Amino acid sequence: MYDVTIIGCGIVGSAIAYELSKKKLKCLVLEKENDVAMGATRANSAIIHAGYDPDEGTLMAKLNVRGAHLCEKLCEDLSVAYKRIGALVLAFSDEDVLTIKKLYKRGVSNGVEGLKILSHDETKAIEPNISDDVKASLYAPTTAIINPWEYALALAETAAINGVEIMLDSEVTDIKKMSGGFALTAGGKEFLTRYVINAAGAEADAVHDMALPHSFNIVPNKGAYYLLDKNEGARVNHVIFQCPSKAGKGVLVSPTIHGNLIVGPNSVDSEPDDTTAGADDLYFVRSVAVKSIPSIDFRANIRNFSGVRPNSDRDDFIIEAHGGFFDVAGIKSPGLASAPGIAEYVISLMEENGAVFRPKENYVSSRKQVRFNEMSHEERAVLVKDNPLYGRVICRCETVTEGEIIDAIRSPIMPRTVGAVKRRCGAGLGRCQGGFCEPRVLEILARELKVPIESLEKEKSGSYIVKRRED
Ligand SMILES: Cc1cc2nc3c(=O)[nH]c(=O)nc-3n(C[C@H](O)[C@H](O)[C@H](O)COP(=O)(O)OP(=O)(O)OC[C@H]3O[C@@H](n4cnc5c(N)ncnc54)[C@H](O)[C@@H]3O)c2cc1C
Repeated sequence: MYDVTIIGCGIVGSAIAYELSKKKLKCLVLEKENDVAMGATRANSAIIHAGYDPDEGTLMAKLNVRGAHLCEKLCEDLSVAYKRIGALVLAFSDEDVLTIKKLYKRGVSNGVEGLKILSHDETKAIEPNISDDVKASLYAPTTAIINPWEYALALAETAAINGVEIMLDSEVTDIKKMSGGFALTAGGKEFLTRYVINAAGAEADAVHDMALPHSFNIVPNKGAYYLLDKNEGARVNHVIFQCPSKAGKGVLVSPTIHGNLIVGPNSVDSEPDDTTAGADDLYFVRSVAVKSIPSIDFRANIRNFSGVRPNSDRDDFIIEAHGGFFDVAGIKSPGLASAPGIAEYVISLMEENGAVFRPKENYVSSRKQVRFNEMSHEERAVLVKDNPLYGRVICRCETVTEGEIIDAIRSPIMPRTVGAVKRRCGAGLGRCQGGFCEPRVLEILARELKVPIESLEKEKSGSYIVKRRED
């Protein structure tokens, strides 16, 4: 019998698994997809929000500020790329100026440090490509950018190294209350567990309903993006927002952690698995973004994608105890920024509800990754001398070597798809989007996993890439 079972391995499930892996207990994560971070965690703006946006007194406000505070050190310990570049919220009208003043006050009351209102000239001085129509801005220096799936993978891998079992392709389809715990059905097997944590993102209402009377609805909401080539990556220096509205934080323009430019998202209600980025979505994004930065060159687009927000019919995160069943649901933005704060909060809630956790000795608290493209020539020479596979560049856009691809394939949560390799080492993330390196990655993956190449998939189950010729 497991002590704790977490359903869903997005950033929330991963962060909770990471925190629980510091304790002496038997912990299981059941994830329905073939990799970690395949839901909202894979496709979002990748911003560690400072915490001025959520209403005072909400869980979102408290956990955003706490999560953002914990994030930098976590990223340093777990070798996750993180840059604190700051954000600007632009005001184009007198009404917007009132809004940014309100956000300033709210941020101060939420405990956000360093907020300032900047004049037009001060804004232009630090962000020269911004529209001349900007009257003023709110400056939030603690806002950061990150690689969201690397963050989730780092947390989940560290949890796995510390003994948490992570089972992929394991969709929970039934939950039965029994004496002293629950029986879960997933992937045709039964798992007995004392406590259940529901971190199932856009499907958290369906998972809740398997165990308890219906009490909330997830209202999935899609947001589409442009990802522009690195030659547009320096168009802005900060995360550039417009004033938020009921629909959310609006269309932003930001450098990404990899040096590209991200522009988006829009906001439309959708199905939980609708990740299409249609012409209407993209037209909207483009037309709103140029209001902030008129000079964006959208011809440099290398990819469009969409993510689905697990919004709910409540105004806050839903983090609740029901006996031994814990909902961690409706984790909309700023869920990525809040995740480590959410994990701490869930553990204290479990303790308040009778769980007793003892710390684990010999806990492994750090993770090291080889990133060839960030090394000096001297460091590269040492690495290649030791293992010549680090001298064979497979992805030329991002300078990812065969050595790094093999490290990724042998990592604690073994990747089974080309997309999963990409998320672990960056092969295929660049300008050509895998056009050149994907066949080589496929060969290496097939060789290392000792499986036929035609059995390999690009992303979700069924997305096969190669078909054997029938002569
Ligand atoms: C367009 C967009 C922009 C955003 N921008 C930001 C941002 O810049 N900053 C920020 O802080 N937040 C942002 N967010 C919000 C953030 O992405 C989410 O809050 C966060 O990813 C939610 O994580 P999660 O783990 O709850 O959900 P998910 O990542 O969706 O994970 C849930 C997991 O549960 C699994 N699952 C579902 N049902 C089952 C089942 N029955 N059995 C087993 N597994 C199951 C799913 O496969 C999935 O892997 C954005 C979101 C979107 C969509």
